[in-house]
Amino acid sequence: MGETEKSSPEKVNLLDFDTEGLKAFCAEMGEKPFRAIQLEKWIHQRGVDDFLQMSDLAKTFRAKLQDVAEIRGMPVIRDKTASDGTRKWLFDVGNGNAIETVFIPQEGRGTLCVSSQVGCAMNCLFCSTGKQGFNRNLKTSEIIGQLWHAERTLRKERGITDDNERVISNVVMMGMGEPLQNFDNVVRALRLMLDDNAYGLSRRRVTVSTSGLARQIDKLALTCPVALAVSLHAPNDALRDKIMPLNRKHPLEDLMAACKRYLRFAPRDFITFEYIMIGGVNDSLAQAKELITLVQDIPCKFNLIPFNPFPDSGLERSSEEAVKAFANRLIGAGITTTIRKVRGDDIDAACGQLAGEVKDRTKLSAKRANREFVIKEIKQGPSPR
Ligand code: SAH
Ligand code: SF4
Repeated sequence: MGETEKSSPEKVNLLDFDTEGLKAFCAEMGEKPFRAIQLEKWIHQRGVDDFLQMSDLAKTFRAKLQDVAEIRGMPVIRDKTASDGTRKWLFDVGNGNAIETVFIPQEGRGTLCVSSQVGCAMNCLFCSTGKQGFNRNLKTSEIIGQLWHAERTLRKERGITDDNERVISNVVMMGMGEPLQNFDNVVRALRLMLDDNAYGLSRRRVTVSTSGLARQIDKLALTCPVALAVSLHAPNDALRDKIMPLNRKHPLEDLMAACKRYLRFAPRDFITFEYIMIGGVNDSLAQAKELITLVQDIPCKFNLIPFNPFPDSGLERSSEEAVKAFANRLIGAGITTTIRKVRGDDIDAACGQLAGEVKDRTKLSAKRANREFVIKEIKQGPSPR
């Protein structure tokens, strides 16, 4: 689509298709399957959105494409860069909703943190996205569109013309939303991330982070096994039930069993457990000990994430000493443990701070009342120390 040409709702957005989808689309147009590969390369490897530039396609095919299809990214509402180089885009996804994507440049690699839903229905107590409620699942075009936009923008800015040189080397599905609640669209996007004719990332460099939907973890193992991160955040069901309501349906026993099963398919030989450090809630040494027992027969690594505050969270970050002591306890038990550096917090781009704009369709006010009650209960309960 040229810059001046208006998008039309009747046109098919080719960003919605993985390779199979593009092949089916080409077949419908009376074209051979290899045309799909050519299209995929133009769209995803080269970041081109104008059919006229696709010089190895017949002129008649290009003209037909212009009539019925488009390559439509999302309008950018805001584009901010933090003092540490972390960059955050806010994309308009229509009807007053917006989602966020974060690029984290690091020595020798570039990681993109991608959103999967507008808001999130899981309602975790410590998460800004969860606090906002949920509107809808993102379409495949809106998930892969984040990578498509970020890669082509960064390449242009850096003057990169070699199709094989990539700025983004890793993708983590750790933005807004629960990826496994939007399974089919996420998997289509993952397939494009892995496809050599698109982004060509290895399975080890693409991570799905989940709050722990045990059955969906099994489904991912069979459909598209990529690196798996599981948001654990509590060493027992009593606490996890309170801070992550989904635990009432998928208790730790089920989750741990699903993690073990996943390892048979996973591209890495360990599961990454994410563990937020919330002051006085889940950061005592007794809880570290309980955690060690919980994961004793699962090859894993721990990533401790100091809690990132957001307005009216009612929770505090653990002290640096508490985080270090907790980490040392895990390391002492032979578990590789890292403490996640806070990145991009001056533009609210750190973990759990992504808010976008969500027109909540769930009963947010009722959840808020419950939230305050739970925080009170956790804080007043018997001291975990
Ligand atoms: N829904 C998925 C992926 C998105 S959240 C999941 O929960 O895993 C990405 C990570 O950020 C998760 O580990 C999540 O628990 C963590 N997170 C959420 N709120 C946070 C906060 N306020 N501070 C630090 N990390 C947070
Ligand atoms: Fe959703 Fe993940 Fe936030 Fe929980 S932590 S509310 S699952 S985005």
